[in-house]
Amino acid sequence: MDTDGIEIYFKIFEIIMVASVLGLITGALGHKKGDSFILWWLFGTFLFIVALPLVLIMDAKNPQVAGRNSGLKNCPYCNTLLKTGVMKCPQCRRSQPAIGAATEASWQQARAAGDDVAQWAKQNGADKNEDDAPAA
Ligand SMILES: [Zn+2]
Repeated sequence: MDTDGIEIYFKIFEIIMVASVLGLITGALGHKKGDSFILWWLFGTFLFIVALPLVLIMDAKNPQVAGRNSGLKNCPYCNTLLKTGVMKCPQCRRSQPAIGAATEASWQQARAAGDDVAQWAKQNGADKNEDDAPAA
């Protein structure tokens, strides 16, 4: 019957849609780790169960992701890999933002939050018992 045939097509279409959305997850993770988005998207679409753990355990290829202390960073304008001390990108010749300039506000926010934690600890007497906790 024709209607059954159409329903099967819809089901297949639905499965493909769900699979490609799942593939987006592995694609995004793979891309974040410096690998090809398209390859990980295809891999995740067809073999999500296999691709997800693989992309999660995969070592990051991008030094910026691999470690903050690698001494390297990417130019925010053209994505060229630079040493952190470089003030001007040799590729696009744009001045590099000073390290920490953008995080000043967030640093103050973190400090305020830290004060809140300290205050909370004081109110709850947590700071007094920190060193002389009863032995188990
Ligand atoms: Zn650049």
